Amino acid sequence: MNILKFYERFPDEDSCAVYLREQREQQGVICKKCGGSAHYWLCNKKMFQCKHCDFRTSLKNGTVMENSNLPLRTWLLAITFISATKKSFSALELQRQMGHSRYATIFGLLHKVREVMGKRDGLYQLEDMVEYDEAFVEKATKSDEKQALKKGRGSQRQAIVATMAESTILEDLDTGKDKSCRYFKMKKIDDLKAKTAEKLVRDFIDKEAVLQTDESTTYINLEDCVDVHVHEISSSAEGKFNLKWAHIAISNLKSYLRTYHMVSERKLQNYLDEFCYKLNRRYFGQKLFDRLVIAAIYPYWHNSV
Ligand SMILES: [Zn+2]
Repeated sequence: MNILKFYERFPDEDSCAVYLREQREQQGVICKKCGGSAHYWLCNKKMFQCKHCDFRTSLKNGTVMENSNLPLRTWLLAITFISATKKSFSALELQRQMGHSRYATIFGLLHKVREVMGKRDGLYQLEDMVEYDEAFVEKATKSDEKQALKKGRGSQRQAIVATMAESTILEDLDTGKDKSCRYFKMKKIDDLKAKTAEKLVRDFIDKEAVLQTDESTTYINLEDCVDVHVHEISSSAEGKFNLKWAHIAISNLKSYLRTYHMVSERKLQNYLDEFCYKLNRRYFGQKLFDRLVIAAIYPYWHNSV
C-alpha cells in the first residue's frame, strides 16, 4: 500500500479500529484468562468481551501494539512505510517520514515489527533442497575498541550469519541446469563450531531435506540431521552451483545492511529477520501490508509461537 492509499483507507482512528477489529476476528481472538475463542464486540468500549468469562480484550491487547500508547493509526502508518519498500528504513528516516517527534519511540516500534517478522518466519521449516553457508558482516564497534580489534574476514569486528536457502534444481533443455529459490532463513551465530551448525539445521531444516554445504569441518555431523548431506569444495564449479542462492542472498544482505549507519550485534537478528521476511515475500506486492498486519496481531496471543 502506498501513502496516498493509506490516507484514503485510514482517514482517522475509527477507520483503523474497524480494520483491526476485522483482522483480529478473522485470525481469532483468544481470551487471555480462560483461552476461550468466542467473543462479543462492545461497540462503546471498542473491546472484545469473552462469552465464557467476560474478560475484556482491547484491539491492542495480545498484539505487537500491547503496552503502546501510540494511536492505532501511527502503527498502521509505520507498517505502511515498512511494507512499501523491499529495502528498509532506518529509524531516523522512518521518524522523518512519519513526522513523529521522538526517535526512541519509532526505533522501538520498528524493532518490534522486525521481531514480529522473525516470529512469523519462525513458524516454518525449510524443506526439499536446502543450501547452508555462513557469512561475515560488519557490526557496530566503539571507535576506541576498533583500533584494538583485528580487521578482515572472521575478525572480532564482524558478526557471523548462518544462511539457509531452499533451492530446487531445474532441468532446462535449452539453457542447461539452473536453480530456483523459494524461502530463506538467516540466523546470527556466535561461533563456527560443528554443534552450532547442527542445532541450526535441526531447528530450521526439515529432517527429510537434502542439505548442501561446502567442505568445512563445521559441517561434519550434519548427515545425521537430514536425509542426504552433499558437500563440495567451495571453489569448485559444483560447489559454487550448490550454494548459488545462499551466496546471492548474502551479497544482497550486505547491500541491505549498508542502509544503516551502524548495526549493533545485539539487534542484528532483527535486521536479518526483516531482510528474510521481505525476501520470502518478494512477490506479494501490495498484499504485503495486510500480511504484515496479520503477523503483527498474531504472535502474542498464540501460545505456540
Ligand atoms: Zn475468557
